[in-house]
Amino acid sequence: MEASLGIHMDEPMSFSPLRDRLQADGSLKKYEQTIKLPGVKKDIEKLYEAVPQLGNLFKIKDKIGEGTFSSVYLATAQLKVGPEEKIALKHLIPTSHPIRIAAELQCLTVAGGQDNVMGVKYCFRKNDHVVIAMPYLEHESFLDILNSLSFQEVREYMFNLFKALKRIHQFGIVHRDVKPSNFLYNRHLKKYALVDFGLAQGTHDTKIELLKFVQSETQQASCSQNKSHLVMGNKISTSGPTPKELDQQCTTKTSVKRPYTNAQIQIKQGKDGKEGSVGLSVQRSVFGERNFNIHSSISHESPAVKINFNITYSYLFIVRRQQVAPRAGTPGFRAPEVLTKCPNQTTAIDMWSAGVIFLSLLSGRYPFYKASDDLTALAQIMIIRGSRETIQAAKTFGKSILCSKEVPAQDLRKLCERLRGIDPNTPKLNTQGPASQDPAFSEKTDCKASNFVQTSQVQHSGNSLYKGDSNSCEDHFDEFTTNLEGWDEVPDEAYDLLDKLLDLNPASRITAEEALLHPFFKDMSL
Ligand code: ADP
Ligand code: MG
Repeated sequence: MEASLGIHMDEPMSFSPLRDRLQADGSLKKYEQTIKLPGVKKDIEKLYEAVPQLGNLFKIKDKIGEGTFSSVYLATAQLKVGPEEKIALKHLIPTSHPIRIAAELQCLTVAGGQDNVMGVKYCFRKNDHVVIAMPYLEHESFLDILNSLSFQEVREYMFNLFKALKRIHQFGIVHRDVKPSNFLYNRHLKKYALVDFGLAQGTHDTKIELLKFVQSETQQASCSQNKSHLVMGNKISTSGPTPKELDQQCTTKTSVKRPYTNAQIQIKQGKDGKEGSVGLSVQRSVFGERNFNIHSSISHESPAVKINFNITYSYLFIVRRQQVAPRAGTPGFRAPEVLTKCPNQTTAIDMWSAGVIFLSLLSGRYPFYKASDDLTALAQIMIIRGSRETIQAAKTFGKSILCSKEVPAQDLRKLCERLRGIDPNTPKLNTQGPASQDPAFSEKTDCKASNFVQTSQVQHSGNSLYKGDSNSCEDHFDEFTTNLEGWDEVPDEAYDLLDKLLDLNPASRITAEEALLHPFFKDMSL
């Protein structure tokens, strides 16, 4: 294998069918032993068939991730000299838009490879199949380790996340999907990597050329403007999609595509208050994301904030003409300005998401917010940060929210300690795990009284009361030993930083650069 970076496009067909090849070198049995699921085995074979040049370079061992827009495989590459190298192969769904794919690749090549941002080694394309080859980072499942992390590990985790965010924000990349499954963490090696630029967008002055196209206002504009002049950074160059390919992509209406224009991700409010088919067709699957990583385990995830929608009435209105604004990502991690469709979104939205991760780490609850739509997510934010405060902040970015019931802001320390199971009088952890009936969200704070109505261009107020997460999972108790280290004396700086990350106003929210200099990280160096 070449040691240098390179893009391999439409390589000559020097591939013999996988089975024959493996039989020939006697490794078929060994190969089959490494494949656990017949479905995975089939997928691997299909991938070899779709992108034959992979067979010359890699042994694909397993599927380690599957989302709506990609499948990720673990492979090994045998270099002429030296040990076998582990590689992650991200196979993007063939219906992904070429510009979207190229932009994801450009983020990795230009900003990646340092400061905890995943880099790229190769990229392969055969027809409409694209595979990005990256260094493999074995990582933990966030949920599995959440309650076994020492306080110092949490500090290091957040510090390294900010390092990655500072790096991408310097390039004018807004990641838009910051969450634990996109920030790989190898606890043993203390290695971290921000991955998945599949939803990234550029700031107005982005240094990632292709993100300028991704940001364009309408799908039509994108289709007509982006001929084939794609500029790739960092020594990697590739031919862009042909106008024909672009046309095909732009006119295909039935397939699931990653959003690449603002127009595509406009919310359509359906009669039942959920997003209509247009919105859904471009939405990333929020709860369907599977992680096949060896360290991961399937468990019942319990959101820290649960809302029962069937009790009393409290109305929340966002009084504004429906605006076109990007709102991709995962509801529980979306900033208030994303949830209210503020059109001017900045890198601050990633800082909010980092705040939600920090909230999980401090409270021992993941996911912290579990919302299947934006209004539920906004209501959950209000329960933690206060309704008045949310309304006031929304005004600063031009959004009017009406809420019939006032919900006070919570004290973040008290909230996290209660959820973590720390009795404030006796500073000792409850090793049974977080309390299932948490008083922070009982009648007292009226979190049950949350039925929401959005008024916008599409008026369905009579029918759009959200029916809620009635099938939300049972409480999850971590099987791992709860780590007491450092948790009995969490410094005020931790909650001060959390408060600054969860600043409802994006204009004053702390930046990644500022966060790294926060007193919470006083003895840590970049
Ligand atoms: P998607 O767009 O489908 O979410 P991601 O890029 O987030 O794709 O990858 C999905 C999952 O695959 C990740 O959550 C992670 O578990 C795994 N993964 C992705 N890249 C790597 C990598 N370089 N090393 C190890 N695992 C990876
Ligand atoms: Mg992902």
